[in-house]
Amino acid sequence: AVRATNDGIWDWDLTTRSMHFSERWKTLLGYEDFTWDEPDAWFKLVHPDDVERLRREIDQHLAGDSANFENEHRIRHADGDWRWVLTRGLTTCDANGTPIRITGSLSDITERRNAQQQLIHDALHDSLTGLPNRALFMDRLAHCLNHVERDPSYGCAVLFIDIDRFKLVNDSLSHTAGDRLLVEMARRVRRVLRPRDTLARLGGDEFTILLDGIAGSVEAKDIATRVGQAIAEPASFEGHELSVVASIGIAHNTEGIADAEDLVRNADIAMYHAKGHGGGRWETFDTSMHQRVLDRMSVETQLRQAIDQGSLRTFFQPIVDLRSGALHGLEALARWPAGDRELPPCDFIPVAEETGLISPLGTLILRSACQTLSEWRERQLVKPDVTVSVNVSICQITDGGLVDHVRAALKDAKLPARNLTLEITESTLIENPMLVSAELRELMYLGVTVHLDDFGTGYSSLTVLNDFPGDTLKIDRTFVDSMIGRPDSHTIVTSIVGLAHNLGLRVIAEGIENADQLHALTALGCEYGQGYHFARPLPAGEIETLLAGGNLTGAEDTRLPASISS
Ligand code: C2E
Ligand code: MG
Ligand code: MG
Repeated sequence: AVRATNDGIWDWDLTTRSMHFSERWKTLLGYEDFTWDEPDAWFKLVHPDDVERLRREIDQHLAGDSANFENEHRIRHADGDWRWVLTRGLTTCDANGTPIRITGSLSDITERRNAQQQLIHDALHDSLTGLPNRALFMDRLAHCLNHVERDPSYGCAVLFIDIDRFKLVNDSLSHTAGDRLLVEMARRVRRVLRPRDTLARLGGDEFTILLDGIAGSVEAKDIATRVGQAIAEPASFEGHELSVVASIGIAHNTEGIADAEDLVRNADIAMYHAKGHGGGRWETFDTSMHQRVLDRMSVETQLRQAIDQGSLRTFFQPIVDLRSGALHGLEALARWPAGDRELPPCDFIPVAEETGLISPLGTLILRSACQTLSEWRERQLVKPDVTVSVNVSICQITDGGLVDHVRAALKDAKLPARNLTLEITESTLIENPMLVSAELRELMYLGVTVHLDDFGTGYSSLTVLNDFPGDTLKIDRTFVDSMIGRPDSHTIVTSIVGLAHNLGLRVIAEGIENADQLHALTALGCEYGQGYHFARPLPAGEIETLLAGGNLTGAEDTRLPASISS
């Protein structure tokens, strides 16, 4: 039976203190050549951290405290490694009940223990970077906060890191490159931290750092600066020289924060703040930031309701053919009625973009714009070639489904595709030129025209401009605004118009507010214009009045009255 079993067998004579180990016991541990005859030979091989518990449990068993003896411990293999073994034993007593002998087995459980350890490790670590995950981070933070509770002078801080525009790396290179970037960032950040700090990956491109035991806010800021610099060092990926920056939020355990979740949330809020200020920087949390988040959430809730209830409105602003003075098109602009006034897009479009509400909002404006123009065409208030322009955000493109929405909106409104124009801002285009251009081409395939909005504000390269599939460029208002009386601005506008014409694009000047600007732009050969000089954005009803009054019929000879601008 001893030879048949895979386990090693041992037999300990308590009266003589001698011990017998089976051949198998020795082979399991690689000590074939040795002769063993005493228990200490065994104990000497046991891991120093485990030996005391082993001895104690044997003693307890001999004292009759336990029916069986069973212990898991590490033991030194002849090859020098530690093996995990399970040893079991049973005592034999003499007629008086005194233990005289203890006999048992030994089996190698290293694989099982390793698998267990691996499971525990995996449950607490991120598989990509090997860093602690959220669960382990929160646990360490909770421990640290316990420490703070006992000793309020003990300082700790949480840094929340988010790589700016990480999605761009993923979308434009590959997910593998994105993964490699994350691993590289983790390595670099780890390098600038102290051994006691915990760097964790929460998921995606979000990392947190627990600064355990720091002197104060200055030290946290120093570390945040170092972390930011480590991330910003250029790296090369798949043959591309890549330089990314991160936004970092810092939160301290001040103001009586006892909850780990709260501290991480505050660091997250501060991180968003850093992003809001352009990214590539750090911000320290203060309570006013939290208030702003709550305000923003309330805007989000109300905006969601406004979209659901269809209470958002579409205003229209004429775009004029500068050579003939005729109505060329109308730009649809979203307005949110709040109390007795209409909120401008700058108050809610950024929130909509951040919260994903921009897609339903955009579809709403798109449908209403198509519907309205279709009606005006039917009632012959506008000439058949007058277009309506709708603004499109990058999120509507990345969310997918834009082409389907456009097709459906045109079909439902019975509006020919050539009467719809989509406006993409220059910054949208450069954020992801390949993706955006591909989407635009698909839209143009439907027959829709595409304009590049706010040109001059986005620092696009000439390559991007050259690849732009649309046919018209809108010069941003800020250049038109300053072109009179400032020769440098005039030169910029002149160059943009020249550049556009050379690339075969037509030009719309935005924000024409007076006759001087109008004349200067006409002299430069700018084809179209839009601005308060002609008309402010107006609700459909007021546009109708203008159209019906013959002021905006688009008839070749009708000059738009500058008087509407007041
Ligand atoms: P945009 O597309 O460049 O629209 C032109 C903006 O310039 C409008 O601001 C318009 O009211 C303003 N404007 C026009 N003429 C003049 C002028 O002579 N002087 C001055 N000072 N301003 C003039 P608005 O309506 O506040 O819209 C701001 C931006 O919000 C738009 O800029 C557009 O990017 C965005 N937006 C508006 N509606 C939507 C929408 O439905 N979807 C999306 N994604 N964005 C929208
Ligand atoms: Mg626009
Ligand atoms: Mg614009």
